[in-house]
Amino acid sequence: MMVISEKVLKYAGICEEKCRGRFAEIERVSLFNTQKVLEAFQKEKVSESCFSGTTGYGYDDLGRETLDRVYADVFRAESALVRIGFVNGTHAISAAIMAMLAPGDVLLSVTGSPYDTLRSTIGENDKRHGSLRFYGIGYRQIELTDAGCPDFDKIRTEASDRSVKAILIQRSRGYSLRKALSVDTVAEICARVREVNPGASILVDNCYGEFTEEKEPIEAGADLIAGSLIKNPGGGIAPAGGYIAGRRDLVEKAAMCLTTPGIGGECGATLGNNRLLFQGLYFAPHCVSQALKTAVFCSALMEEFGMVSSPKWNEKRSDIIQAVSLGSRDRMLKFCKGIQSGSAVDAYVSPEPWNMPGYDCEVIMAAGNFIQGASLELSADGPVREPYTIYLQGGLTYEAGKLGIMNAVSAMTV
Ligand SMILES: *Cc1c(COP(=O)(O)O)cnc(C)c1O
Repeated sequence: MMVISEKVLKYAGICEEKCRGRFAEIERVSLFNTQKVLEAFQKEKVSESCFSGTTGYGYDDLGRETLDRVYADVFRAESALVRIGFVNGTHAISAAIMAMLAPGDVLLSVTGSPYDTLRSTIGENDKRHGSLRFYGIGYRQIELTDAGCPDFDKIRTEASDRSVKAILIQRSRGYSLRKALSVDTVAEICARVREVNPGASILVDNCYGEFTEEKEPIEAGADLIAGSLIKNPGGGIAPAGGYIAGRRDLVEKAAMCLTTPGIGGECGATLGNNRLLFQGLYFAPHCVSQALKTAVFCSALMEEFGMVSSPKWNEKRSDIIQAVSLGSRDRMLKFCKGIQSGSAVDAYVSPEPWNMPGYDCEVIMAAGNFIQGASLELSADGPVREPYTIYLQGGLTYEAGKLGIMNAVSAMTV
């Protein structure tokens, strides 16, 4: 049951008033991106015959082939590969990384340590079978500056090493207190890299970033982008999958990593999922705007309650993540319980902190999802340790997102 306190209701009204300008800006971007998506559907002649899928080998899947072209148009790329056969974002990003490199080459991450799940792809600690290390591919990283910005001087020197054949840029803050990179900043990085090493390919981990701005990283000069369909571009509808878009030669190589060198992107049954992927993309710009409004509202409300959150409600955004430092374990647990009990699904369960493998402390996660782990749906999680920061994302509709947050803040402040 949701219990929203009088105080929270009052502050919520003040916040919405305050955020009106920000909301209008978010709606403007959503309109722009919806037009982009509609025009791609029209150009590629999406029709009802695209919605039925194939079985078996999946030859001549009109929907799959059309969807690839629609994604390519939307992201201003030469080519794209959109597949339910990608287990998740990590799988798509890994295939994109492999597509850019050969034994002896070096991958350079210019935004510090990549997202946790990609560390096994690199083989950071154990050279495990199939990892970059296993194949004799080197890895280096450049930390962000203390202000959380790319270190342009270091990028210039380190990227100039000719063994560096691929650059990895993470757009979103992921689960850290750094800021998301704007597409303009991605453009600056790409320009620096090109100056000193024109032969290196640039990949942007685009997770959580899609449709938050008018431009996407390919327009900023990146060669490839990759992400998850149960985040932004799936619009809450895609049941699973990932995508890669960018230079045709690299997308082809990534397809060979996903399937086999002899198959590439030409096979792969879609099993009746095409309609959901098209429909998800159709909804995506709007759902991203709803998630952004939910995040802005949350940030503004936390400020009213004297809590530190990042980004601030009035800051420019390039991902849908909102970090809020709640200051105590008790508040963190109550906030998560409030998000859970305000969900449409699994509202009756109570999230508990647990020792998740790979973490050196307990982690708590709250989500009442239609699709397992989908984080364009309202969800909150974080490691239970100082400064007790909760990472909140999603909200398929602003109304449900707002109610969930009011419920969480009420639970936390009674
Ligand atoms: C979510 C995410 C990924 C991939 O995560 P999956 O859970 O594998 O989909 C990679 N990078 C960033 C920045 C992410 O947010």
